Amino acid sequence: MVIALAASVFTAAGISTQVSAMEAGSVAAGQAINLRASNPEGTTGSAAVPAALPSTGTAVATASVIEEGTGLYLNGLFLGAVKQQDNLSGALQSLLETYKEEGATVHFLENVETRSGLYASSSLYNLEDFMQALTQENTEIPWSYLVQEGDTLESIANLFQTTPEAILETNPDIQELSQWEEGIVLKLFNQKPLLHVQSIKKENYTEEVPFEILSLSDNSRYTTYQNVLLAGQKGSQICTDLVTYVDGEEVSRQAISRDVVSMPVTQMQIVGTLNPPDGSTPGEASGTFTWPTPSILTVSSEFGSRWGTFHAGLDLSNGSSYGETIIAADAGTVKYVKKDNYGYGYHLEIDHGNGMSTLYAHTSEILVNPGEKVFKGQPIAYVGSTGDSTGAHLHFEIHVDGTAVNPREYVEVPSA
Ligand SMILES: [Zn+2]
Repeated sequence: MVIALAASVFTAAGISTQVSAMEAGSVAAGQAINLRASNPEGTTGSAAVPAALPSTGTAVATASVIEEGTGLYLNGLFLGAVKQQDNLSGALQSLLETYKEEGATVHFLENVETRSGLYASSSLYNLEDFMQALTQENTEIPWSYLVQEGDTLESIANLFQTTPEAILETNPDIQELSQWEEGIVLKLFNQKPLLHVQSIKKENYTEEVPFEILSLSDNSRYTTYQNVLLAGQKGSQICTDLVTYVDGEEVSRQAISRDVVSMPVTQMQIVGTLNPPDGSTPGEASGTFTWPTPSILTVSSEFGSRWGTFHAGLDLSNGSSYGETIIAADAGTVKYVKKDNYGYGYHLEIDHGNGMSTLYAHTSEILVNPGEKVFKGQPIAYVGSTGDSTGAHLHFEIHVDGTAVNPREYVEVPSA
């Protein structure tokens, strides 16, 4: 007996059908181990044709239990068949089309083969159920599997995308290894799809390229200091990736090309490396003042009337004061910096909030900028003699609501 079989091979380009006539017996030699029974009881029942056809010609039962159909083989494993007129190939092609996009190459991940032939009617599925069981999770459509020599619970679970536990649950009779024999038919539900569609396509997109930052360190500034000399600019590039999807989910991405549209511009900046004083937050006044010249503890001129005029602050000088460090008496924000050649000379004022501010005059060099938030105790200038001054000293004022008050009421000379 010769049965004509049409074998369809699914390829990346879709389905190409090659028809060949085969001896049913020769197919049986290769496929007998994958025979399927849709009815587990069939192995012992009267309609004992658990195996799909084509099988050995002589084993074919009466014509009433075989029908023309199209069988599906996944990676060589026979899963089941549908009636000839149900057009399995068309359904598979439609599934591929679902994932077809412009420029995409679509094919099944598994080796898929359909074969027309005679199959036991007990192994025929409704096409819709069949496709659902193949492509969806946890469907309620069972597969039947004829246990073969060498099979293990694990190997069968792998084959049908399920677990050994689930197999034992649906086949309560098979609980012991000793019962594992060739010829037992298992009822199986796949937990994950058995058939997957892989699509591969090139994708283009524009991507920003981050800029690099070149930092120069300044060990005379606190770590909160940062001065951007040249702002960085992001670049952009056109990317082409080869992206692989399985059932519409991205599984891998390979960069093919990167075409630079604009180069990024490196940012140049200066950052401080000096640790700021403990217990102080830049800009946030503590409400108390510290002595502004740690190395000069002498008051050479007090607040008050002097030489027929009014001296609005304290003069701090010890005879070798030039270049000594002046620190912020409290944290605050630099209100202004002025470099005059008269009056206060090089001077600055720090706003401490709550109507309080401090003024530092006649300095030789100023280290901070207007708007900068400073720590309490932060070096802000060096003692000098700029403006209307007769020798190196710090002229120090404290203002309350814009009026100079006697600093002695707010700050004490530290003990030497
Ligand atoms: Zn003075």
